[in-house]
Amino acid sequence: MAAANILVVEDEDALATLLHYNLEKEGYRVGLAGDGEEALIQIDEQAPDLVVLDWMLPKVSGIEVCRRLRAAQATRNLPIIMLTARGEEADRVRGLDTGADDYLTKPFAMSELSARVRAVLRRIRPGLAEDSVQRGDLVMDRVAHKVSRAGRDIHLGPTEYRLLDHLMQHPGRVFSREQLLDAVWGSDVYVEVRTVDVHIGRLRKAITGPGEKDLIRTVRSAGYALELG
Ligand code: CA
Repeated sequence: MAAANILVVEDEDALATLLHYNLEKEGYRVGLAGDGEEALIQIDEQAPDLVVLDWMLPKVSGIEVCRRLRAAQATRNLPIIMLTARGEEADRVRGLDTGADDYLTKPFAMSELSARVRAVLRRIRPGLAEDSVQRGDLVMDRVAHKVSRAGRDIHLGPTEYRLLDHLMQHPGRVFSREQLLDAVWGSDVYVEVRTVDVHIGRLRKAITGPGEKDLIRTVRSAGYALELG
């Protein structure tokens, strides 16, 4: 299963950047929209798995975005976490039936947002948000965002992490470079196919310690698979 796609709708640049950075570090694919209108356009083009939606936005407010998403058949069940300012807005979100799945009052800790995101994803796609996955001697702890092999900590960049996450969801299955591009980078991003080889190379180097078996099998002219046998 591919990494979850999260759309962050936030007009404060600093916060948007922070959210983008942190969610990407957690292994999600993250899109950004700076106002409500842009958010609706992006969601119409490709619905994400979850929306983190600021309440106060230019053009179309967060609450209006939420109402429109709930009114449309295609996005009726799209998970939404609403961000509100302290005080009045938070009370209104609580009091109103906004249709949001959850809400957070600013300022909030990134760990708090991560926990809410995981909880919402776990509800809608249980396999996607498993806290921890183990395959052979490889363990991926999605809460701590850590990977280890035979008890040894492994440090991965965000792309390598998403690649491994994807491969660990389907051990033994062979993925073509194109399939990996779609799953890990997203089908709307233009990346050269060769880029996959570069990141597979980095991942392979990172997870293979001295004397350890190479777990990534290169299938000539087909692609890659995670081998655990
Ligand atoms: Ca705002």
